[in-house]
Parts: sequence; structure tokens; C-alpha cells
Amino acid sequence: MGDEGTGESTGSGRELLPILEKAADHPCFECALCCRYIAIEIDPPTTNQEYDYLVWYLYHPGVSVFVDWDGAWFVRFETRCHHLTPQGLCGVYERRPAICQDFDWKDCERHMTDGPPDKWLFESADQFLAWFAKQRPKSYRRFQAWNRKRTRAKTSRELRRLKPVPLVPRVAAR
Ligand code: SF4
Ligand code: SF4
Repeated sequence: MGDEGTGESTGSGRELLPILEKAADHPCFECALCCRYIAIEIDPPTTNQEYDYLVWYLYHPGVSVFVDWDGAWFVRFETRCHHLTPQGLCGVYERRPAICQDFDWKDCERHMTDGPPDKWLFESADQFLAWFAKQRPKSYRRFQAWNRKRTRAKTSRELRRLKPVPLVPRVAAR
């Protein structure tokens, strides 16, 4: 990686830390994909509640779930780091968090040539439920039964107290 410090001014007179340029032949040149998301490891799901959490996560745009080749489960949020510069460089390179510092680009999924980076990747609840039904049919049936029971009991009680809202907006009378 090139190490030429550019140094930027914020306009308030405060000098930002030098931004390190990447040489054009560096594998990370013009990428910075790893500065555009965070991934949090979660317990591998085994209970109805945990499967339900996964469905809930995946109802949100920009959230995905993946399982790596060691069987570890992660929730991934697409979100750009505040310190990623418009040039795709780290604006706090010399004091970047340890997780950034310790990450070795040689372990990066973009450099893996022997197959896909993840064992499973779910980008929607439908994708996850299709996988669930196929890979864990017994747990899936148990989950479906749990959902039916839960929905019948709670939703019908709540629905009795709610006023239905028409889906088509009413046209104002002239
Ligand atoms: S480590 Fe991987 S994702 Fe991150 S900048 Fe380099 S090539 Fe891109
Ligand atoms: S601190 Fe720097 S290296 Fe870490 S995610 Fe942000 S821009 Fe990327």
C-alpha cells in the first residue's frame, strides 16, 4: 500500500489526519467495500424466537444475514463509515479502530478464488424461509406451528380492539 500522506483541512482550520493513498496496483485500490457495512456475530439460531428474530432483521432493507464457512452466523448492516472519504480512503487512518487495523486484506472475501465467501447468504426473509424449510424441515414445521398459535392468540385479541383502516385513501368530497 502506498503511504503518501495528503493531509486535508476541514475548512475550520482543523487539520485532519493524513489520508494514505493506495497505489493503483494495490488490491484495495478504489474498493473500500469493507468500510461500507458492519457485521455482528449472533448465536446460530435454534429456537423459534431466534428464527423469528432473523425474519425480523431481514424485513429491513440494507440488512442481510450470512453464515461463514466455519458455521458462524452474522447480521450485516449496509452503512457507510463516517470517516470514509469521497476518494474511498480512510480519513482517520492513524487512529482507526483495531478491528480495521487488524483486518488483513488477504483474508478479504474479494480475494478468495476457491468458491463463494459465505456458506449461506440471506438478503430477504423469503430467502431465509425457503432455506429454513429445505435445510431444517422439522424445525421449520415447529416454527410455523408456533407462529400460527402465537398469531391466533395475540393478533385476534388485538384486532378486536382495533378499527380497520381502508387501504385505498378516501377521495375528499368536493
Ligand atoms: S479489504 Fe477487501 S473489501 Fe476492503 S478495500 Fe480491500 S479489497 Fe475492498
Ligand atoms: S475507520 Fe477507516 S478503515 Fe475503519 S471503517 Fe472507517 S474508513 Fe474504513
